[in-house]
Amino acid sequence: MATKERGVTALDRLRSRYERVDTTCSACGYDDEDGRWRSTTDGSQVHYSHVCPRCGAVRKRTYRL
Ligand SMILES: [Zn+2]
Repeated sequence: MATKERGVTALDRLRSRYERVDTTCSACGYDDEDGRWRSTTDGSQVHYSHVCPRCGAVRKRTYRL
């Protein structure tokens, strides 16, 4: 399970970074301080999505691991 643990570590590092940096909606400007990016991975890429609780705008980002 060493491979899985490495993946989780990388995910956690990215997740904590983007949770802090970018929770402001680009559509309406709402600062979703308690919100967070959801992350999923297919093993080679991480897909992030964030839904604004005010206007429902969805932002998505993809990063390579
Ligand atoms: Zn919004």
